[in-house]
Amino acid sequence: MNIYESITAIMGEGYTITKDKKNQQQGFKYRGIDDVMNTFFPLLSKHKVFCVPEVLEFTREERQTNKGGNLIYSILKTKYTFYAEDGSSVSAVVIGEGMDSGDKASNKALAIGMKYAMFQVFCIPTEEMIDPDATTPEPSVPKKEAPKSYVCADCGKPITDLMSGDKVRLTAQDIAARSMDAYGRQLCMACSKLARMAEAAKE
Ligand SMILES: [Zn+2]
Repeated sequence: MNIYESITAIMGEGYTITKDKKNQQQGFKYRGIDDVMNTFFPLLSKHKVFCVPEVLEFTREERQTNKGGNLIYSILKTKYTFYAEDGSSVSAVVIGEGMDSGDKASNKALAIGMKYAMFQVFCIPTEEMIDPDATTPEPSVPKKEAPKSYVCADCGKPITDLMSGDKVRLTAQDIAARSMDAYGRQLCMACSKLARMAEAAKE
């Protein structure tokens, strides 16, 4: 059997995964990674399918809890490849996030990634997840980046906002972007004028 036949055969087994784990902070019930593994191990084994994870990218952040403790936060982008008996395969790439005060943030991220890869490949309803349509998050805005500074490529002076009175007519970023478009380098207003004259003289 190839992987497509194997996966549809597994889906045809009519499994149920009990949802008896309870989130200690928020109280919702969920299916633990062990429940998922316990359900799937015999089915994967029966249909001669196995799964190989490959971490594609990871980020790690150290954070602090409200109480001042250390918290490691890992995000792993992991590719899970399901192989069938004949060597054919399909892959699912998922993002797993894990937090831990010790050394288990990445383990947790992997476990979560595996769980959701199984959920999505085998179409297991994820009832424990709040449907994104069920709630409306508070409006939020992207984090503002610190304003960048722009330096004129010709005179070396910083490019500043073009003001008229106390209003910004053109931001330094716009001036830099416009000169980049027109002349292929970031220029201040004065050097942009010179560049424009130089171009005009050529024609
Ligand atoms: Zn300049």
